[in-house]
Amino acid sequence: MSDILKDIQKELPKVISSANFEGANIVLYTNDIDFFRDNEGKIKELVNKFKKRIELRSDSKLLKTQEETEKIIKKIIPIEAELTEILFDVQRGIVVIETKKPGLAIGKAGSILKEIRQETFWIPQIQRSPAIRSKITENIRAVLYQNNNTRKRFLNSVGKKIYKEWNPDKVEEWIRITMLGSGRQVGRSSILLQTPQSKILLDCGIDVAGRGKDKFPYLDVSEFKLNELDAIILSHAHLDHSGLIPYLFKMGYRGPVYMTAPTRDIAALLALDFIGVAYKQATAPLFSSIDVKEMVKHTICLSYNEVTDIAPDVRITFYNSGHALGSAITHLNIGNGAHNLVYTADFKYARTRLLDRAISNFPRLETLIIESTYGGKSNVLPPRKDSEDELINEIKQTIDKGGKVLIPELGLGRAQETMLILEEAMREGKLPKVPIYIDGMIWDINGIHTAYPDFLNSQVRREVFQDNNPFVSEVFKRVGSPLERKEVIEGGPCVVLATSGMLVGGASVEYFRHFAPNKKNKICFVCYQGAGSLGKQVQEGVKQVQMSIEGKEEIVEINFEIVTIDGLTAHPGRNELLEYTNRTQPRANKIIINHGEQSRSLDLASSIYKLHHIETNVPKNLETIRLR
Ligand SMILES: [Zn+2]
Repeated sequence: MSDILKDIQKELPKVISSANFEGANIVLYTNDIDFFRDNEGKIKELVNKFKKRIELRSDSKLLKTQEETEKIIKKIIPIEAELTEILFDVQRGIVVIETKKPGLAIGKAGSILKEIRQETFWIPQIQRSPAIRSKITENIRAVLYQNNNTRKRFLNSVGKKIYKEWNPDKVEEWIRITMLGSGRQVGRSSILLQTPQSKILLDCGIDVAGRGKDKFPYLDVSEFKLNELDAIILSHAHLDHSGLIPYLFKMGYRGPVYMTAPTRDIAALLALDFIGVAYKQATAPLFSSIDVKEMVKHTICLSYNEVTDIAPDVRITFYNSGHALGSAITHLNIGNGAHNLVYTADFKYARTRLLDRAISNFPRLETLIIESTYGGKSNVLPPRKDSEDELINEIKQTIDKGGKVLIPELGLGRAQETMLILEEAMREGKLPKVPIYIDGMIWDINGIHTAYPDFLNSQVRREVFQDNNPFVSEVFKRVGSPLERKEVIEGGPCVVLATSGMLVGGASVEYFRHFAPNKKNKICFVCYQGAGSLGKQVQEGVKQVQMSIEGKEEIVEINFEIVTIDGLTAHPGRNELLEYTNRTQPRANKIIINHGEQSRSLDLASSIYKLHHIETNVPKNLETIRLR
């Protein structure tokens, strides 16, 4: 199969000027105008025969100039579609057309797109213009579409590697996974999957609340050699899953990283913010923006339900995991179906305000790796509605007393959920009209939400489509500078949503320091507080903390009210976990539990075994489990 490109070309008349891979996909370039305009189903035949995604594009010699193409596009696309931008991916012959109403730009059964293709010879791709412009999304596009051959060459090299040892009849002798992080703990998620042919890393995160070496996965073990790694899979953008990936690029990794498009944008944003936070704390950052850029250049984005080969013996599919925008459950088909592994990473088995609940049906399944953040006996979560009401009441009480409420938030997921709860409560008069300040990464991540409405649940998507975007409601005020922050701190009753969620660096720490001494104020914890974090200490009731402010040590007295609302979490509660493990279709033969404090993970394991009679395993870090 290594010569799949040649085999394909043999099936065609002499119209193909070049052929190459884009990851596992195959792209044919033609210099024949008639063949480009009408290949009489030839390409479809090839797709059926080779069972691969094959795309026909025109050779660069045929392409109309960018100027002419822009003119033609502006003429063809109806004004009502509200065209906002045209971007050219010159090397790959693709033109990205951004409009406010993509449906109108595509035309009936794609008629408008077809016309653009026939007239300009470029392959048009329509994208929705985001309601909030996101600098990071624009920068990422600039990096990806810059007119040089690097990206094309990289995608081709990935394909060559996948097809080199391609052998559909080979049976895998063994398959095993090693926990490099997240074994009996939350934070530093990383699992190494090995077969005789392939080495694949599932996530590579940082434990932001950890100390010293415990912050990072065990990458200094003989199991793990960076130059032997075939691919990295990133489940979602939270730092405890994504944080160390730019560092791998710093150390020389140049292979692919698979994720969804929103995860790419948010992971890049969080990585850049992480560098900024390190500078503010006067510590040397782990990596630089150059390494983040390398990560972006080596990212291959997949949509949910899209099946892709990532190694000669591994095929993956992402499914919605319901945890945060773009978050994915990964299904891995290993060794031509010899073993099917599902890695849930973080998920939510309930519909939230933003997302649909996690997918539980898979084509096949033998081993399930599942998180257990709230897996303990006492982690049964109250109904979401009750928790939402509790949050609203807690805020109302404090506002009525003239105090301020701080909600430390994870910039991705949790923050947007809270915004939707508060926006509705204020609209319906359940909360007095006070400003809701948004500080830290949250605003930028809101922008990315509006750029990818297809990843949101139907209700929010509809609101975004109907220009009724809840994220741009006037109740939200963005805090963009230290001066504005000072005004909030010195001003009247308000609600502040600020990152980071565990009070480990970021704007939330600044508000904490000023709000904590006044007993009229309140802090509401709505996300998980990791061991060792300032958030955890405050939650457990310390009366004062020593903080280092611009080099000076300062004692902060903690007098404000402290409230924890567990039921709003973006993780499954214990009942959801038990329901999920029982309901997956098909059922797993073996369940491996990670991403939870030791007692919680063990609790969940024994309950799953007792209730559903499925073998469970709770590996420690560095433990290896043979799957086959
Ligand atoms: Zn997460």
